[in-house]
Amino acid sequence: MKPFTEQIDEILRLETGADACSASPAALYSAVSRAAMERLRPQWKREPGKKRACYFSAEFLVGRLVHANLFNLGLLDECNRYLLERGVDPAVFEQIEDDALGNGGLGRLAACFLDSAASMGVPLDGYGIRYRYGLFRQHFENGFQMETPDNWLRFGDPWSVRRDDESVLVTFSDQTVRAVPYDMPAIGYGGGMVNTLRLWQSEAPDGEGFDFALFNEQKYSEAVRLRDEAEAISAVLYPNDDTPAGKRLRLKQQYFFSSASLQSLLRDYTARHGDDFSHFADEYAIQLNDTHPVVSIPELLRILMSDYLLSFDESFAVVQRTFAYTNHTIMAEALEKWDVGLFCSVIPQVYPYIVMLDDALGRALKARGITGAGRGRYRIIDGEMIHMAHMAIFASHSVNGVAKIHTEILKNTALPEWFALYPDRFNNKTNGITPRRWLALCNPELSSLITERIGSGWITDLDALEKLAPYAGDPTALDAFLRVKRQKKEQLCAFIEAREGVRLRPDFMFDVQIKRLHEYKRQLLNAFSILDFYFGIQDGRIRDFTPTVFLFGAKAAPGYYRAKAIIKFINEVARLVNSDPAMRECMKVLFVQNYNVSYAEKLIPAADISEQISTAGTEASGTGNMKFMLNGAVTLGTLDGANIEIVERAGVENNYIFGATVGEIAALDGRYNPRALYESDMRIRRAVDTLIDGTLDDGRTGMFRELYSALLDGASWHAPDCYFLLHDFIPYCDTRLRANRDYADRAAFAKKCLLNVAHAGPFSSDRTVAEYARGIWGCL
Ligand SMILES: *Cc1c(COP(=O)(O)O)cnc(C)c1O
Repeated sequence: MKPFTEQIDEILRLETGADACSASPAALYSAVSRAAMERLRPQWKREPGKKRACYFSAEFLVGRLVHANLFNLGLLDECNRYLLERGVDPAVFEQIEDDALGNGGLGRLAACFLDSAASMGVPLDGYGIRYRYGLFRQHFENGFQMETPDNWLRFGDPWSVRRDDESVLVTFSDQTVRAVPYDMPAIGYGGGMVNTLRLWQSEAPDGEGFDFALFNEQKYSEAVRLRDEAEAISAVLYPNDDTPAGKRLRLKQQYFFSSASLQSLLRDYTARHGDDFSHFADEYAIQLNDTHPVVSIPELLRILMSDYLLSFDESFAVVQRTFAYTNHTIMAEALEKWDVGLFCSVIPQVYPYIVMLDDALGRALKARGITGAGRGRYRIIDGEMIHMAHMAIFASHSVNGVAKIHTEILKNTALPEWFALYPDRFNNKTNGITPRRWLALCNPELSSLITERIGSGWITDLDALEKLAPYAGDPTALDAFLRVKRQKKEQLCAFIEAREGVRLRPDFMFDVQIKRLHEYKRQLLNAFSILDFYFGIQDGRIRDFTPTVFLFGAKAAPGYYRAKAIIKFINEVARLVNSDPAMRECMKVLFVQNYNVSYAEKLIPAADISEQISTAGTEASGTGNMKFMLNGAVTLGTLDGANIEIVERAGVENNYIFGATVGEIAALDGRYNPRALYESDMRIRRAVDTLIDGTLDDGRTGMFRELYSALLDGASWHAPDCYFLLHDFIPYCDTRLRANRDYADRAAFAKKCLLNVAHAGPFSSDRTVAEYARGIWGCL
């Protein structure tokens, strides 16, 4: 094969007639990506006869592909040299949009799993939707979030291969569409395996275009209408995170990719086995990433029974052996349910199979003596609602949570009756992150520091980081670590100045909270605590404050009014603090715009403090927490989700834990009185009152007053301060201030950071995927 760089030149010449110096960034991106695609082609094939796992997910938040793919192929250095030699800044590809086909943690987890599986030789393919527009782009106007469409295909899509020959039809009550797969290579590190991410695009069935020979205005508009209606299904990602969107189009999306993916597996399977389905579950394991793809369960049942004439019992056995379900949330409002009427108006052909499942569940319960009222709590069809999680638990062989505490809450609090029924079905798979993107690629400086001391084995065996622990007592290593941290801060400051027009000080401590904006994640608590510091410094109550940059990054779902109010509030806090000359040497507050994977890759390596402050019992796992740990930040957090496992590994003494535990929150049940706290504590009152006393301006929207009454009065659908901000406020501020003071001893603080890195091994998604492959999929 021709050298990589010659291939790039050749593609550029053929496509644009230009060379690298004069080519546009888009042309360069396309040529580099396509040259790389050429090279991986021989490895991009499936091993026959081996069981494959299929990850069904409505979201894959892969981020920017070009660097990660070149890195895993071992071509990144060569590419950067090639660009430099031709006078092109290797940062040129930072203009390429992220593939933001996901909202947050759940979608990013799917992307990390693909990287890990391919790197470890686990045959795992992803199946999802090729949204025309991913998660919206965000900017601020006068401190308010504004949304614009995410046109991620602007620079083309050179990492996908359209497979017309593999398209299938998907039928709804009111339309039939063609699902066309776009296959992306999921590339393993170091020339490992190349698996496939298959994303389906919805098109009109006769995609061949209109018959102009028979041109007729009426037929033409009819064809255009059908095309638009077909394309609407994969047009846009629902910008919701942890709240369901009970919308017709959302259900269509779910059925669209579920049905298309199953049809593609069955086409492949029946080509080899005809209609003998006895081997199906030995050849495919399907992991359902939350309830979004759970409609796959009745759909497979339907196909087996109606197309292949299997009995219910035979079909159910295949279904149950094939599917496994991952639960991602315990928040009651996020457990997906579909209205029977709506469901039947969209996919009436599937509904009878849900009725059969509900009946089978009734029989299974009866056999165990559970009847009458006892049965009620289990129902799949409950009155007018279809309960997707119940269907998933009943019809699959494995149900997992995503962190130890989350799985315990599922078993004991959220789904105890199901756990009593099927104790063996429940298991835990603590989330992880890929060390390729989240250390090797985003922090080459820290990577070198590590590799110089313990070798490069950590890239595929993250537990090797343990060998760093002895260096936590080595002043030279700690100095080197601090130099790297400083360098990453300088790089981030330059990036932020260019992007946001704000100048930050790299000599400050960096305190970072980046994640979707949600009340349970408590960005508002963070803002209140900044105000408490601000007032405390003004009053002289707080002295010797280590100068700190407080950074936020988050998108709010466009219809989530309170989340948008919190963004506005934090931007107003930033305006107050940053415009006060007395604060110039003390603190700076900034909410960055359009937080996404690529931004995370810049923010995380520069952080000293990782803010993980969700109300105990609300964050299933979190993965942002792991990315910070791996890059040498300490966690300032509650005992929630994977924070618990993080401090178990890295030591409480090397992190900053505060606030009510899950047990303490439960014990408050019905007895929590936030107004009493507000009235008795001056500091709480002063921070909370900024919502209404004119200190901060919400542009006369009434947004801030609404936040205020949510905390003190509640609303028709929730109790006052249902995320316990005021309860945790003082412990949070005190612990945060302790971290702020500890930071002044740079060596002691660096030691904590380095020990976090040293103990981050268990949070590699390589470990997580190996557990799924061994424990659930049976393909490792
Ligand atoms: C990792 C990641 C998340 C998840 O962050 P949490 O803190 O676990 O909620 C969300 N968005 C992006 C872009 C990420 O990279």
